[in-house]
Amino acid sequence: MKTLTTEDKAYLLDKIRDVPDFPKPGIIFKDITTLLKDAAAFRFLMDHLEARYKERDIDFIAGIDSRGFIFGAALADRLQKGFVPIRKQGKLPYTTIGEKYALEYGFDEIEIHIDAFDCDKAKPNVLLVDDLIATGGTAKAAANLIEKSGAHCVEACFLLNLKFLRGDEALSKVTPVYSVLEVD
Ligand code: AMP
Repeated sequence: MKTLTTEDKAYLLDKIRDVPDFPKPGIIFKDITTLLKDAAAFRFLMDHLEARYKERDIDFIAGIDSRGFIFGAALADRLQKGFVPIRKQGKLPYTTIGEKYALEYGFDEIEIHIDAFDCDKAKPNVLLVDDLIATGGTAKAAANLIEKSGAHCVEACFLLNLKFLRGDEALSKVTPVYSVLEVD
């Protein structure tokens, strides 16, 4: 697998737009739509992820609602694996299992279908994908949910890690963490 150079990372990082004060004052929103609409940049990213994971023993890709669906589904197609959406509570139509996680105020919940990882393996290997890790709360709940469903989360993969929030440290207690890009 080719590791990305400093120039490669700068190229990708430059495609992500910072939107200050969205969705509320003080937050700098990392807008990945500017990367997605650039065909060469999106393909460059997906080539890297495909190379990283193609030799790994992975049975499913699970993407977190909603931007994790974009990268997760694209990667699943590249690797010829099934894709499983991990959704916000109340969105999935069939029987679900859920995992609650704490927010700054209150809590949120994510869900998967009860049969999401059913296959011919007793404990299938799942790669978790999202666009960004901030506090790590969502991804930690997602990794816990994968394990709770009887599958195994082999790694959590992000395009971008907001390193100053140390979410990767919390998540790495549950599963290995990989991020293509980091911001301090
Ligand atoms: P967290 O649970 O704090 O790690 O938050 C991760 C989730 O929130 C991911 O699904 C991200 O898409 C989204 N998110 C959090 N912070 C940002 C941000 N600054 N810019 C864009 N998305 C964010």
